[in-house]
Amino acid sequence: MEIACLDLEGVLVPEIWINFAEKTGIEALKATTRDIPDYDVLMKQRLSILNEHKLGLNEIQEVIDSLGPMDGALEFVDWLRERFQVVILSDTFYEFAQPLMRQLRWPTLFCHRLEVAEDGRIVDYKLRQADPKRSSVKAFHSLNYRCIAAGDSYNDTTMLSEAEAGILFKAPKNVIEEFPQFPAVHTYEELKLEFIKASNRDLAL
Ligand SMILES: [Mg+2]
Repeated sequence: MEIACLDLEGVLVPEIWINFAEKTGIEALKATTRDIPDYDVLMKQRLSILNEHKLGLNEIQEVIDSLGPMDGALEFVDWLRERFQVVILSDTFYEFAQPLMRQLRWPTLFCHRLEVAEDGRIVDYKLRQADPKRSSVKAFHSLNYRCIAAGDSYNDTTMLSEAEAGILFKAPKNVIEEFPQFPAVHTYEELKLEFIKASNRDLAL
């Protein structure tokens, strides 16, 4: 059997931080791993901005509640789950993702946790492990699963390399140019075809 490893933000749902920044008007919160590849640096910057503006988990969850999956994402996930074991490997946090996972009908999600104070202030974050996306693919390999992975950004590239096949989906130009070894597609129909191509089974659309 094969596992389809999917990134979440930018692949199935919009970028949570960018949407939150738009609602709150805090320009500095728009930075993502597309802009700052070092995730630790990025998260420390986000938490200090949130604390500066006295914004906690409740305010963030209100915004996330109003976001939906990207157009066609639910249909794509349903299609994929009929043909692969689907696991979402994300650098988001369970506390943020829950309203969106409900809308995607609860596929399996491996991500991180936040540390939240009683007053809702986010005080810290706990990464599950170092290089979690690549480590997950390695773990699946140790269980004798073949992996096909899709993502849109820098934090996906070790996962794409570790998998038997890696696919860039809706990636920005700089990532596509820096990683020419991965096919780059921009629609769910093209992405389905890439998964079919990468599979060692005889799959149909
Ligand atoms: Mg992403």
